[in-house]
Amino acid sequence: MGMSSSVSDSNHCKVIIIGSGPAGLTAALYSGRASLNPLIFEGSQPGGQLTITTEVENYPGFEHGIQGPELMDIMRKQAYRFGAKSIFRNITKVDFSKRPYKLTDEEGKEYFADSVIVSTGASAKWLGLESEKTYMGYGVSSCATCDGFFFRGMNVAVVGGGDTAMEEASYLTRHASMVYLIHRRNEFRASKIMLDRAKDNPKIKFVLNSVVEEVLGKEEDSRKSVTGVRIKNVVTNEISEIKCAGFFTAIGHEPNSKIFKGILDMDETGYLITKKSTMETNIEGVFACGDVQDSYYRQAISAAGTGCMAAIDAERFLELKEYEESISN
Ligand code: NAP
Repeated sequence: MGMSSSVSDSNHCKVIIIGSGPAGLTAALYSGRASLNPLIFEGSQPGGQLTITTEVENYPGFEHGIQGPELMDIMRKQAYRFGAKSIFRNITKVDFSKRPYKLTDEEGKEYFADSVIVSTGASAKWLGLESEKTYMGYGVSSCATCDGFFFRGMNVAVVGGGDTAMEEASYLTRHASMVYLIHRRNEFRASKIMLDRAKDNPKIKFVLNSVVEEVLGKEEDSRKSVTGVRIKNVVTNEISEIKCAGFFTAIGHEPNSKIFKGILDMDETGYLITKKSTMETNIEGVFACGDVQDSYYRQAISAAGTGCMAAIDAERFLELKEYEESISN
């Protein structure tokens, strides 16, 4: 995929937005309506995490819910109406040492921006097993709502002990005949209500104090499939196997902030730090919004809200700079 339409020849923009989830596209809508002609780098997952979900029931304005991909399509079109443009590539390098800031895309092409809005989101974490990689997409998944349907009448396993794991396990009982919830401790991060709901579900079997050592599988007629998981009880050291056709990781998320390491302030897990009550980072004219700076709320609507705030911050910043430049000339 290339550009949605041509970007100015100089590759110099007033606002460049990195990331295209609810935060990025809302920032594009607001900065578009402020006549700033924003350029959005959509990245490797255009539309962000909602494009790998199905029904979204908690986005205000959609009384009967809406499909995640459709919601993101609407947001993009709404931003385009006010002059936003997209490039369907990743930014792989940034230079924020002087304005205009320089951004390099995956093809080595350089762009310049008077202000930058970072909305690169977060991605699901994986256990990091070789076998997990081998069977990814062949029974290994991090999205129950995307892939649960494929395991109708089969056994599946979910790993994790937070709200996501409870939610995924509960959702999977709609399709699977049995869901094994594997957790490395016997205490949970999950909220009481979500945990109780999962515990009350007769199709969820809790496997506690256990870690997954290996995803087991087979290859027949060059088609790979998962057959189970090998687990170890961390209290007794006992090794056992669970037979399942699907394996879902639900162990949290990681902010997509690697390219800003050493440049933008971040906490120890990589979430970008913004100044109190604003979306400002430690670099003037660079703003952060959405899940890349929020490990707590992580909702589409809260991401959209901070996207709006980042765009307003960028607009005010540019106005101030313009004024400062006009009086110094
Ligand atoms: P989380 O709360 O950080 O929980 C991650 C879970 O994965 C923990 O139980 C953790 O175990 C386990 N884990 C992490 N790394 C692991 C590894 N390498 N191997 C095995 N287990 C591992 O993440 P989350 O469940 O994704 O939730 C994130 C936030 O979103 C929370 O604030 C949550 O409340 C919210 N959320 C809300 C809803 C809802 O309300 N509908 C739904 C989903 C998420 P330990 O506990 O032992 O560290």
